[in-house]
Amino acid sequence: MSCKIDYQPASNLLENRVVLVTGAGDGIGRAAALTYARHGATVILLGRTIAKLERVYDEIEAEGGPQPAIFPLNFEGATLKDFHDMAETLDKEFGRLDGLLHNAGLLGRITPFEQYNPALWEQVMQVNINGPIWMTQALLPLLQQSADASVVFTSSSVGRKGRAYWGAYSVSKFATEGFVEVLADELENQSTVRVNTLNPGATRTQMRRTAYPGEDPLTLRTPEEIMPTYLWLMGPDSTGVSGQKFDAQPPRG
Ligand code: NAP
Repeated sequence: MSCKIDYQPASNLLENRVVLVTGAGDGIGRAAALTYARHGATVILLGRTIAKLERVYDEIEAEGGPQPAIFPLNFEGATLKDFHDMAETLDKEFGRLDGLLHNAGLLGRITPFEQYNPALWEQVMQVNINGPIWMTQALLPLLQQSADASVVFTSSSVGRKGRAYWGAYSVSKFATEGFVEVLADELENQSTVRVNTLNPGATRTQMRRTAYPGEDPLTLRTPEEIMPTYLWLMGPDSTGVSGQKFDAQPPRG
């Protein structure tokens, strides 16, 4: 596993690239959307809370970044038709997709498995893995239209080693790691699309606060501080790298 926290990106790293970020309204996804736009990308902001997406849109515009697009979508209840309609809309608007950051995620509950609610389990699997994989299937033709497309799935340390009480969240992240191995192996030698997983590590967001209510958030890196690996994976410096696991920050000592 490797980490690119010291990566120094060119200021125009993502110029002329169209990059879709899920969960772009808050936390790490918001920081990724703003960072990608600052490095020249046209960013498609996807999420379920339109007001948050609009705020990110306005920030990008205020900074003079390339005009973004908003794509409202709630992974809960999203159907195959929704994903195919999305692909059609993006095809008409952009004709290709150069980057896809699967970042949206749901924590569910941290609770003993014996008490895990099955409906909540399904919900977490839908948002964290099932929705993203069918969205990827629908968007693959558009990704193939790019000369150098990068797909990044967000993992977690509990997607690489199981931990008591992390239930569906942990299982969904293991599934993410497994899916990326399968897809990367299929695409090898027959496509320029690369696909990797990225574990942000402990980061100062609402999700982390919910998972660790007693922790001092000031001891954690901010989403902005972990962006070098997000940039490296999305830009041309990672061309040809596929099926790998990355960490956005070194493990906490
Ligand atoms: P966050 O602050 O809770 O943000 C999660 C984002 O996902 C929000 O924009 C949220 O939208 C969106 N989302 C949730 N459910 C959705 C749904 N049904 N449909 C569409 N969008 C939905 O979490 P974060 O910490 O930034 O996490 C981002 C990613 O990093 C997640 O995949 C998480 O598992 C992973 N991760 C985080 C940490 C950490 O320490 N923070 C560590 C390891 C992995 P709303 O704003 O509308 O709620």
